[in-house]
Amino acid sequence: MDIINKDTVMTEGISGTIFRNWANTFSCEPELYFQPSCVEDIKLILEQAKKNGKKVRVCGKGHSPSDIACTNEYLVNLDKFTNVLKVDEDNCQIKVEAGITIKTLNEEVLPKYNMALSTQGSVSDITVAGSISTGTHGTGKHIGIISTYITEIELVTADRKLVKCSRKENKEIFLAASCSLGCLGIITSVTLQCEPHFKLQQRQMSCSFKEMVTHLDEHISNSEYFRFVWYPHTEGVVYWEVDKTNRQKTSSSNWFWDYAIGFHLLQFLYWISTFCKWLVPVINYVYFKLHSGLRVDIDDYYNIFGFECLFAQYVTDWAIPREKTSEALEDLKSWLDAHPEVRAHFPVEVRFAKQDDLYLSPCYGRDSCYINIVMFRPYGKYVEKDGYWTAYENIMLKYNGRPHWAKEHKLTFKELQNMFPKFERFCEIRKNFDPDGRFVNDYIQKVFIPKSKND
Ligand SMILES: Cc1cc2nc3c(=O)[nH]c(=O)nc-3n(C[C@H](O)[C@H](O)[C@H](O)COP(=O)(O)OP(=O)(O)OC[C@H]3O[C@@H](n4cnc5c(N)ncnc54)[C@H](O)[C@@H]3O)c2cc1C
Repeated sequence: MDIINKDTVMTEGISGTIFRNWANTFSCEPELYFQPSCVEDIKLILEQAKKNGKKVRVCGKGHSPSDIACTNEYLVNLDKFTNVLKVDEDNCQIKVEAGITIKTLNEEVLPKYNMALSTQGSVSDITVAGSISTGTHGTGKHIGIISTYITEIELVTADRKLVKCSRKENKEIFLAASCSLGCLGIITSVTLQCEPHFKLQQRQMSCSFKEMVTHLDEHISNSEYFRFVWYPHTEGVVYWEVDKTNRQKTSSSNWFWDYAIGFHLLQFLYWISTFCKWLVPVINYVYFKLHSGLRVDIDDYYNIFGFECLFAQYVTDWAIPREKTSEALEDLKSWLDAHPEVRAHFPVEVRFAKQDDLYLSPCYGRDSCYINIVMFRPYGKYVEKDGYWTAYENIMLKYNGRPHWAKEHKLTFKELQNMFPKFERFCEIRKNFDPDGRFVNDYIQKVFIPKSKND
């Protein structure tokens, strides 16, 4: 994000700011950009927006690979909302302001209280509010998406009211707000259910694609935080069995990955492959081989959960019912085998999440598997992805998939209303909360507002 810092940014707003997402695939030039430092500031901004008839979006760290946070009108950022508001050590709960990052929580705040987050995604430089708003997930058969570890939310609505919700108070609003894409209001604080600090042991191993899809249930059940990646155009799978441990920290260092040489070389090789596509399967195979040795690491939970992604990519990630994982992956593999003109970058990353009852969670009512595909953009160069993307989306649709909200997808209200059982109810709540569409941008318009009466 390119931000010009000035004091006026708090409530009057500044012009001339450009907001770019992490992968540099979407950007916008808001008419005014705000960084409020308290709830009263937020109310003043919303009052000004109402008076001037402006739309408002709130952004976190801009990591969403879509235009979900973009607006050319008023953009609000909560980088000044980073305080710890309350700590309940007995119940392992912490109330924090919404703009605090997962990284700050992990490294600076939670260690003071011997607490830990139960799950997180692969990056931590994202805000708590941003991660719950899009349904960010980690992995594990018995692990929910991050939103399921929230016990209370406070948000300022379009009519400038501060609303508090939890499972005990305003329950339905809570079920909607826990994953609400920034369209119910500006979340100002969040209470997180944590657990006592823990270390994780991660065992990295490899097997064939066939072995993984044939014995998937066994693999998933072998460890608490299981995930795997498949290297397209090869038979190679690398998987990670991750469990809590009391053992000493250790690291089986790997010069190739630890010094980031692997990633820089990969970027260069994928760039070369834009001139000779046949190289992609070779690169994928070589990287599988380099990655496939046994490796054991023991570290603080956040160092094991985290996986820094070093260069920009297009990415999409849908959740399907867990029992459909093997069939869906076999379909994807068969499609790639039948279309040698399409070359897919690695990894195809497969993760799992427990079912929940949050209205817009992709895991609503069903244990799920997330299948994440990428196409890198070496040195920012566009690499053709449309054929691969369409095939993947068709397979996800075949297995009743639901999209990850942060990631780019083509779905509109018409399709989405049949995918999420509580979609209509969410839309009603959104309309009640925001009758003037104050928090509506192009993305929100596309997903929540029917194009015609027939939709
Ligand atoms: C390299 C990389 C790795 C990733 N890995 C994972 C992963 O492992 N698992 C996964 O599920 N996702 C992953 N993501 C996606 C990422 O977790 C989500 O995009 C997340 O929403 C980003 O948080 P953010 O703070 O950057 O929010 P932004 O992208 O800035 O905003 C996201 C949404 O949250 C809303 N929002 C932000 N703050 C507030 C607020 N205070 N009140 C109301 N709404 C708000 C915005 O309006 C927007 O709709 C990854 C993304 C990248 C770039």
